Amino acid sequence: MTREEAKIRISELRDAILENSRRYYVDNNPVISDYDYDHMMYELEELERSFPEFVTPDSPTQKVGSDIDSPAGENAEKATGHDFAKYPHRYPMLSLGNTYSIEEIEAFSQRADKTLQGTSFTYSCELKFDGTAICLNYRNGHLFRALTRGDGTVGDDVTENVKHIANIPQDLTGTGWPDDFEIRGEIVMPYESFDALNRQRELEEETPFANPRNAASGSLKLIDPEEVGRRGLWCTLYHIPSDTDMFETHDQALNAAASWGLPVSDKRRICSGIDGIEEYIRYWDTERKMLPYATDGIVIKINEFASQRALGYTAKSPRWAVAFKFQAEKALTPVLSFDYQVGRTGAVTPVANLEPVQLSGTVVKRATLNNEDWMRQLDIRIGDWVYVEKGGEIIPKITAVELSRRPEHAVSPVFPAVCPDCGAELVRQDAEAKWFCPNVDGCPTQIQGKLVHFMGRKAMNVIAGPATVEQLFRLGLVRTPADFYDLGKGQLMMLEGWKDRAAKRFLDSLAESRNVPFERVFFALGIRYVGETTAKEICRHFGDIDSIIAATEEQLSEVPDVGDVIARSVYAYFRDERHIAQIARLRASGLRLSMNEEVAQLSDSLAGKTIVISGNFSISREAMKELITLHGGKNSGSISARTSYLLAGSKPGPEKLRKAEQLGVEVIDEAAFRAMIPGGSAVSPAGAAAGTLFDDEPTLF
Ligand code: NAD
Repeated sequence: MTREEAKIRISELRDAILENSRRYYVDNNPVISDYDYDHMMYELEELERSFPEFVTPDSPTQKVGSDIDSPAGENAEKATGHDFAKYPHRYPMLSLGNTYSIEEIEAFSQRADKTLQGTSFTYSCELKFDGTAICLNYRNGHLFRALTRGDGTVGDDVTENVKHIANIPQDLTGTGWPDDFEIRGEIVMPYESFDALNRQRELEEETPFANPRNAASGSLKLIDPEEVGRRGLWCTLYHIPSDTDMFETHDQALNAAASWGLPVSDKRRICSGIDGIEEYIRYWDTERKMLPYATDGIVIKINEFASQRALGYTAKSPRWAVAFKFQAEKALTPVLSFDYQVGRTGAVTPVANLEPVQLSGTVVKRATLNNEDWMRQLDIRIGDWVYVEKGGEIIPKITAVELSRRPEHAVSPVFPAVCPDCGAELVRQDAEAKWFCPNVDGCPTQIQGKLVHFMGRKAMNVIAGPATVEQLFRLGLVRTPADFYDLGKGQLMMLEGWKDRAAKRFLDSLAESRNVPFERVFFALGIRYVGETTAKEICRHFGDIDSIIAATEEQLSEVPDVGDVIARSVYAYFRDERHIAQIARLRASGLRLSMNEEVAQLSDSLAGKTIVISGNFSISREAMKELITLHGGKNSGSISARTSYLLAGSKPGPEKLRKAEQLGVEVIDEAAFRAMIPGGSAVSPAGAAAGTLFDDEPTLF
């Protein structure tokens, strides 16, 4: 694979991973299996290992998937679009390295042996509960705060909701609990509650939840705590993060937690070696089907805290723990017919309609076949009995045909020659596995995909998710991005579900998008292969849209990291007069189409935060102040009740520390601060200003 091919593939994988992460963590509405998601991640990790120059701190391989709700989030459950208060985690809430292979568990154990060099240690084997992570903070024996994992650094405050989960105590019993400690675990929805909830939702003609994990995660973020109480959620706690020596082992810590009345699983086992781990895995691979709640694997943790500390963490997960994931369950059922679905990029995916069959607690009626080659490889025919696999996704996957049950004269399907949505003749480039509808500007599904991308958070950041865009598109109000800027309040108020407040919020947000910097406007256009960084590079190189439009392919490929494929794509885009007309309308709507006098802001992750700094840092104090501003924060010289954080370096001023404590202002160190900003661990403002920080980020081209 060439460097440019790798760059494009890395960008595609990041797009796909981030898009699916959002569907999974924020919308609670995944569309691919965990297995497929994990394999995309493994492929990305592999490519980043081979091409380390493309590794960036904001790659999904380096960060935990974020569940932070945004006002723009179109969650599966509408009531969830709630802006929860956000608080930083005392200790980062990370993910777990995972694998589907026993060999890799052996490799994990060997790595631990090697690092710990003869120190004796044991393993705690636990069920991997399939719900949503929670961090509970008890102060003086009383539940003080409950935070979701969020982005690992900052979580949503769901304390009021958690108080309505029956098995979470608000007050501890027993003795010996620390005055102020955190305990982490999982909120799950037992199958019984899940079935009851979905029956109710079907009665009320609401979309049922795909699986108990999504239902648990969606329910935890409801606005009404009483309703959370009715959802029948359940909690199990599995980790006390601490840097004190209160306990020697993880097992002791959890036993103590159980004695304080906290819900801790009794299915844990301490094992001394790989044989014990394998036995535990084998046992629970079948036995878990008898449990009243969903589990998706086994977690293996080094039990001794001293050894855990010696092993440490990667940016994303502890080195002292690993998850073994169970293979998805399979079912056998006949194929009734085939459909061909067009995606937002124009890719056509074959889907089989099946005789409904029970699988992992849900009824499966449809399954994806990926692409034409896969259909041919399987030699799948109408009436065939097929194996279907599912792992938390809505559309499961067909993995094999049971040829012994093939009916006589079974008919092979014919892959369509034209787009089932718009009738355009499908095309397939040599290197691509999928057929594409080339009607990029006329095919309804593709148009909607592009409009959603245009409005997205990394693009124009307008409060409008896919459902709003679909509504406006369906009613013929919006066909191109520029149409959004012609919408009036009166028009919106006539639409179903729009009230005065919603219309105002939407129009205000559109108005604000006129200040979005040029490079994001350019990214919002959704030109194929132009991710966030490429957009930035092109804009900085040319300065304004007219120069980009006028550039030849050769001139475009002079931009750092823009190769022939990207240059051709950008050049071709502006040879289409509809796109030129679109630019003219966007210009008339007041969007920024040049870099003029714009301050290059790196992110808005510190928006609304006032930060006071004190002490010395790894960079100069001036550079630190600049870094705060570059990420949307405000630097202030003195502490007040309105200060968000005191950022303390080495030798901070004692007066500032005392004032912070007096006013309850949180004190953070440089590492915690850097964890709040994208690319923080590798960033210095000098590098930032040169625009070398980001690589391509998710887009939906
Ligand atoms: P993870 O689910 O693989 O593992 C980490 C989580 O396990 C922890 O955060 C914790 O919540 C949970 N957990 C359950 N029992 C535990 C125990 N006993 N001890 C410690 N932790 C325990 O990691 P993740 O970062 O939450 O999610 C990543 C996974 O989510 C991916 O591997 C993928 O399978 C899935 N995912 C799927 C999609 C999709 O579209 N299908 C999208 C994004 C993520």
